[in-house]
Amino acid sequence: MSNQVLPGLYVHIPFCKTKCPYCDFYSITDSTGANTFLDAVITEAGLYRDIYQEFDSLYFGGGTPSFVDDKEFARLVSGLQSLFVFSPHTEITVEMNPDDVTREKLSLYKSLGINRISLGVQSFNDKELVFLQRRHTAAGAKEAIHLIQSAGFANFGIDLINSLPGQRAKNWMKTLEEASSFKPAHISCYQLTINGATPFGKMVQEGALKLPSDEKQRNFFLSTSHFLKERGFIHYEISNFAFGEASRSRHNMKYWSHVPYLGLGPGAHSFHNNVRWWNVRSIEQYLKALSIKEMPVEGRERLSSEQLELEKLFLGLRNLEGVEISDTPCESINEVALKRLIAEKLVEIHDGKIIPTTAGYLVADRLPLLISG
Ligand code: SF4
Repeated sequence: MSNQVLPGLYVHIPFCKTKCPYCDFYSITDSTGANTFLDAVITEAGLYRDIYQEFDSLYFGGGTPSFVDDKEFARLVSGLQSLFVFSPHTEITVEMNPDDVTREKLSLYKSLGINRISLGVQSFNDKELVFLQRRHTAAGAKEAIHLIQSAGFANFGIDLINSLPGQRAKNWMKTLEEASSFKPAHISCYQLTINGATPFGKMVQEGALKLPSDEKQRNFFLSTSHFLKERGFIHYEISNFAFGEASRSRHNMKYWSHVPYLGLGPGAHSFHNNVRWWNVRSIEQYLKALSIKEMPVEGRERLSSEQLELEKLFLGLRNLEGVEISDTPCESINEVALKRLIAEKLVEIHDGKIIPTTAGYLVADRLPLLISG
């Protein structure tokens, strides 16, 4: 892989102190088996040594990686470092919950080479945080950001959620104002999405919770983009804003550009040589497979060249990388349709690439279909 862009490594830490009612990620609140789990992750990593030799991004996501005991976390990082080569400038991200941020933890992370923090703030409004059943307050989030900054992490990101039921536009703008005032390198703004299997999903089905109308959600999206762009952020992917090109999430960019990645942990996904596979979404099954050194893989699919082309189009039209016209099969681009989308200001052409506009992001799922006419 030496002549290609290097792959990324993701580790899913499936423990959370409490479970948020909107969350669909695989996580459990019983962390008593965390040590055994981390051993299993190292075992799993060892099974992939012949396939992936070198990485230039490492991302600890979850779940709540910062909830893991410091010594155990250090053991995990050094276990991975002993198995794989990480290029000298590897981007190493840890997702943190504001409630877990302490000087000691940050100084340990620094000593382990972690150079990027992604902080799950979600809102700077206490009522909204209570609604989301987060375990921190707005003041706690601000304190966590101050600690991150004073520990010398210039490269930190703030994750936020909008389109909450009954959320007022002015409260969301205030959250954005607070977030940008800390001058983070990165801001992610996700719309609250409701999955049927979550407590919020059930409440929506029972009529006890109502999301904002499509028009309100559209307004949240457009006003967010406008606000952050005015403050110098690049809206480089539907939900992601970077303060300068170099602040884009190198790891996440790999998912959107078909660069190989390895995902370790329950529910993690991997991609290599046009094959995608995903792990079992159960810690018990995960541990069972690894206790006999079997890969804890639940399913895999080889993408045909048509599927790859379609995905390339689908992923490329969700971020500013766009799609190379010369790389795209003629049948995927209808010239008349493309001209219409340009006239409607949904896409633009730059340097032989089709790039989505902010309005284009809003219909990103449909853009590949619209472009093919
Ligand atoms: S802390 Fe994050 S991963 Fe854990 S339940 Fe809440 S949203 Fe999900």
